Amino acid sequence: MHRSAESVTIVGGGLAGLTLGIGLRQRGVPVVVWEAGHLPRHRVCGEFISGTGQRALDRLGLLDRFRATGACSAAAKVTFFTETTRIAARTLPEPALCISRLTLDDWLAQEFQKLGGELRFGARWTGPCGGGVVRASGRRAAQEARGWRLFGLKAHARNVELEGDLEMHLLPLGYVGLCRLAGGEVNVCGLFRTDTKLPNLARNWRGWLGGPEGSMLRSRLKDARFDEGSFCAVTALSLRPMSATDRSECCVGEALTMIPPVTGNGMSMAFESAELAIEPLVGFSRGDLNWEEARRTIAASCDRRFAARLRHASWLQWGLFHPIGRAILGSLVARSNSFWVGAFQATR
Ligand SMILES: Cc1cc2nc3c(=O)[nH]c(=O)nc-3n(C[C@H](O)[C@H](O)[C@H](O)COP(=O)(O)OP(=O)(O)OC[C@H]3O[C@@H](n4cnc5c(N)ncnc54)[C@H](O)[C@@H]3O)c2cc1C
Repeated sequence: MHRSAESVTIVGGGLAGLTLGIGLRQRGVPVVVWEAGHLPRHRVCGEFISGTGQRALDRLGLLDRFRATGACSAAAKVTFFTETTRIAARTLPEPALCISRLTLDDWLAQEFQKLGGELRFGARWTGPCGGGVVRASGRRAAQEARGWRLFGLKAHARNVELEGDLEMHLLPLGYVGLCRLAGGEVNVCGLFRTDTKLPNLARNWRGWLGGPEGSMLRSRLKDARFDEGSFCAVTALSLRPMSATDRSECCVGEALTMIPPVTGNGMSMAFESAELAIEPLVGFSRGDLNWEEARRTIAASCDRRFAARLRHASWLQWGLFHPIGRAILGSLVARSNSFWVGAFQATR
């Protein structure tokens, strides 16, 4: 007798969950995605995808189709600033793709549904993530890291002239990336830390994203017209790298671990981990692997792919949050193209 395919449940309809859902539907696996929120919606993100993530989307046949929507643009030139100085302009070793998450997440959701996937909005999964259930529910909350609270902010703005396609502003309490999007908007996104009480972000976000008085960032954004509706914030971030094999659940994307945003690699890790999970889950659905075998195969592949990247990214992150480390990194980027290329490649 022919055995019917086992279905897979995915908890979380973000990039990782939807990409995995698409990959499984392309191979005929029945899939249900539970998404606690609704789409389209803005998410805190620098909104640029670097090389490896683009290749994963390409292998899934999604890259050219998404490009054809006209909703993304290529980025090659990035300029670095400290609070008061322009450090250097560098060319990305591989062009990045700049996209609005509002558009990308929604497009992936539609692709998943076109392929026959079932997407439940406003549906929060409260059960365990055991056999047949993949956790793609994004970053896990952490209250503080060595006495610091980390938070991220994002808003789109118009009327901002950039030097090049991307700008990175290194500040005493964090960093802010500016990314040119299709349609004339600029994404303004920052990661910050505070060792006191979390500020009122809904009221003070412009002050944080706009940079300190007298800074290069402040002058860059002096005429910016922010789109209030695009503002979003995330708090309680943990940047401590985690190993997939240490987790008892099958996880993809940031549910696995968060990479420091400065590398612009989180979306790539979401796409790549989803891609690594597809074949083992197809094996599970067909009855060739039991759940534990599928889960362990996915975890081992993710650890092999991401461990070094995560390690290098956390050194870089540590340096940027330390005044001396920031000065050293700034001077290395300014003086040495080999350092810049090496750091880019080591975190991808
Ligand atoms: C400040 C900052 C800047 C960044 N900049 C960049 C960048 O420039 N480039 C880049 O590549 N990456 C960047 N990232 C990282 C990137 O945004 C994430 O890596 C990516 O969104 C992770 O995708 P995900 O699908 O794992 O999680 P998410 O996109 O967070 O999706 C998880 C989904 O799960 C849902 N969910 C959660 N719990 C449940 C539940 N119990 N039941 C049902 N649904 C649930 C949530 O509603 C959410 O929709 C940045 C991150 C931050 C914080």
